[in-house]
Amino acid sequence: MKCAACGSTALVEGKLGGGDASLTGFQPGDTPWLKRAFAFGNREIVAYACLHCNLLQLTVQFTEDDLQRYQQFEGEQPNVLERINSALEPKDKGTK
Ligand SMILES: [Zn+2]
Repeated sequence: MKCAACGSTALVEGKLGGGDASLTGFQPGDTPWLKRAFAFGNREIVAYACLHCNLLQLTVQFTEDDLQRYQQFEGEQPNVLERINSALEPKDKGTK
């Protein structure tokens, strides 16, 4: 991994944490509110700080389920309603 600003590889890996020792995680925007409320299923965030220019870069550790779920759509991700509708559409639509 390289710094996106200066190209340096002198990066220090770490985590994002709050003052109460909790770690900050990532949740996709379509996570149900109950899971969000209890921070259930947070994806781990890994932070990389550049020693040369101090830029902080973040990466998300997606799960295998995430990759299967989100990679079925190319490019810009559909919103929740579009995603649900596409799951409900019959596979043979338009062939009758
Ligand atoms: Zn840098």
